[in-house]
Parts: sequence; C-alpha cells; structure tokens
Amino acid sequence: MDLLNTLVDKGLRRELPTREEALAVLATSDDDLLDVVAAAGKVRRHWFGRRVKLNYLVNLKSGLCPEDCSYCSQRLGSKADILKYTWLKPDEASQAAAAGLAGGAKRVCLVASGRGPTDRDVDRVSQTIKAIKEQNEGVEVCACLGLLSDGQAERLREAGADAYNHNLNTSESTYGDITTTHTYADRVDTVQKAHAAGLSACSGLIAGMGESDEDLVDVVFSLRELDPDSVPVNFLIPFEGTPLAKEWNLTPQRCLRILAMVRFVCPDVEVRIAGGREVHLRTMQPLALHLANSIFLGDYLTSEGQAGKADLEMIADAGFEVEGADQVTLPEHRAQAAACGDTGGCHEGGGVCGPAPAVAAEPRTDLVAVRRRGAGTDLAPNA
Ligand code: SF4
Repeated sequence: MDLLNTLVDKGLRRELPTREEALAVLATSDDDLLDVVAAAGKVRRHWFGRRVKLNYLVNLKSGLCPEDCSYCSQRLGSKADILKYTWLKPDEASQAAAAGLAGGAKRVCLVASGRGPTDRDVDRVSQTIKAIKEQNEGVEVCACLGLLSDGQAERLREAGADAYNHNLNTSESTYGDITTTHTYADRVDTVQKAHAAGLSACSGLIAGMGESDEDLVDVVFSLRELDPDSVPVNFLIPFEGTPLAKEWNLTPQRCLRILAMVRFVCPDVEVRIAGGREVHLRTMQPLALHLANSIFLGDYLTSEGQAGKADLEMIADAGFEVEGADQVTLPEHRAQAAACGDTGGCHEGGGVCGPAPAVAAEPRTDLVAVRRRGAGTDLAPNA
C-alpha cells in the first residue's frame, strides 16, 4: 500500500505525516490491519528495537477530586466504588514502588488526584521522591499531580523527579465537552512548565470518549508539537458511576489503528499503552507491542490490570525484551537533547465517530475490576 510505504519512510526520517495520511490510517479496513501493524512496527523497531519499557503506577491519593473530568472514576460526583484515601506516607509509597521495581519496572509514576498540588503537597511528594531514589538506585521517577503553579516544576526537579506527566487527553475543540473545571490551555501550560523546568515531559491522550477521527488526529498532532518524550495512549475504561459509563465503542482493531497512527505521527517518542489495555485490546495485546514500546506493569490507579507475571510472559512470548535499568529508552538524538535541557491529564485514563467499526463493540464490563489491592490497602500489590 502506497500510504504505508510513505508513512514508514517518513517515520524513519522523523518527518511529520500529513493530516490526511494520519486520518487514512484510522480509516483502514480490518483486511489491511496486519499490514498497518507491520508498517508501524518497522518504525517502532527502528527507534526502539524490541525493547519494552515497564512503568509502575503508585496512586498516592485516590478519589475525592474536585474536578469533573467525565472519564475519571475519581471525579467530583463519581459514584464508582473505588478506593478512596488521602496521601500515602513516603515510606508507604516507597514500599509500593519497590514492588513494581522488583517486578521489572524502571519508571515509577507517582500520581495524586486533585486539580493540582499545593506547595505543601509538593513538599510531601518531594520527600517521597527522595525516599524512593535513596532506596532504589537508577529508578526513574515521574510525578503526575495535576496543574502546576509557577515554581512547582522546578521544585520537583530539584527533589529528583525525572519526568512530569500531564495528558492533553483530547482535542482542543472537544475539551470543554469532557471537563468544565479547567481548560485545554491549562493543560498545555502545565506540560510547558514541566518542559521548561528540565523535566522530561510525558503527555498523551484518551481514546474512546466519543471523539471523531479528526479529534484524535488533532490531539496527536498537538502532542507532536508539544514534543513530550513519552505519549501514553489510554483507552477509556467506562467506569460505572461516571458520565461515560456507556461509551463502549472501542474494538481491539480500532485500538491497534490508533496506536499505529500515534507511532507514525510521533515516531521516535516513547509510545506507552496505558489504561484500558486489557479491557479493549484483550487477546490482541501482543500485536500492540509492535507499535508501542512501553506499558504499565500491574494495576492502574483505580482498576486492576492483568497479573504482572502475565505481562512479562506476554512480552517474552511475543519476542520482545524488558528494557533494563542500564538501557537508555530514547533514541540517541532525543536522549542528548534531554541531557542538555532541550526536551519537549494527569491521572486516570480511561465513542468513536469516524468510520463505524465493522462489528459494534460489546460492552465488556466483566473486564473492569476496581482495584482492591496494593497502595492504600493491606493487600500485596500486583507486580
Ligand atoms: S483526571 Fe485528575 S483532575 Fe480530572 S477528575 Fe480525575 S483525578 Fe481529578
């Protein structure tokens, strides 16, 4: 297919595809799906080999958020029966992080619900970062605390944070439909603050919220412009008790096309499959490793993932290898840019318009399990 040859050539040169090319990837048929995966897989292997980076989420503070992000089980007014607890102590968070690192993760993502941290919260998280770094040599720490005020990114950097996550989530034109308590511009501003402070920026999207193909392409092109080092791709988990509970629109094939499009638009960036991997890709997860070079190990913020051991087996069975702490994730040109400071919503990742899926997606509510183990409980974490 000419389209795919063009996209591979552009991906290997880090050249931006046109919007029409990106839209055409989303519009490919199921008959062409393996060709699409193979083409995007060439770009993935060129920049990242067969390595898979494992990231581990620690939910520092769960639920009770004053914001109204409609996809989020922790939102204002959420009726989802999730774990709710206030800040973990530094040693509790460090213990949770250690479990993920022992399971093979190289990055720990410290996440807290809320609009954004107070200066006291930044102190608290700084102590947690220091505790984790002291106890685990070489670990990467990413903070995800919501909207940042002036000076907070710098303080997190000084405390030892390597990265900051804040997702754009969806296109600017539909942002107001999913959240009313803050704006798309607020989110862009926080990613830019993180970037300016020398933190590696991590910013991604949520697919499956009723957006059009154009919206998906818009948000991924905006991400390319913001130039984060990592792009988490969430697939909406339609939690009962949230406004998007009925948005069961994704098929495994649709998820693979979305990941391929993100890979073509952001070829040399860490593309991470985030929330919703097990719920929406299901048995097709191994194919997605040909597109993304990064996943979360174990559980998500408020829902359970598949067993950490199953993640590791899947990676090995699919012919990939877990990226070691001594391996550099990013291609040389990006890693060097990060080292000299030239690097480019938070929280829970999860209806697609555009071409209708060949088969309507059946709601798989049986696959959504609220997290009842790990951080904030007395039970062992999944790692
Ligand atoms: S995504 Fe973050 S800010 Fe939005 S409701 Fe959830 S926890 Fe709050």
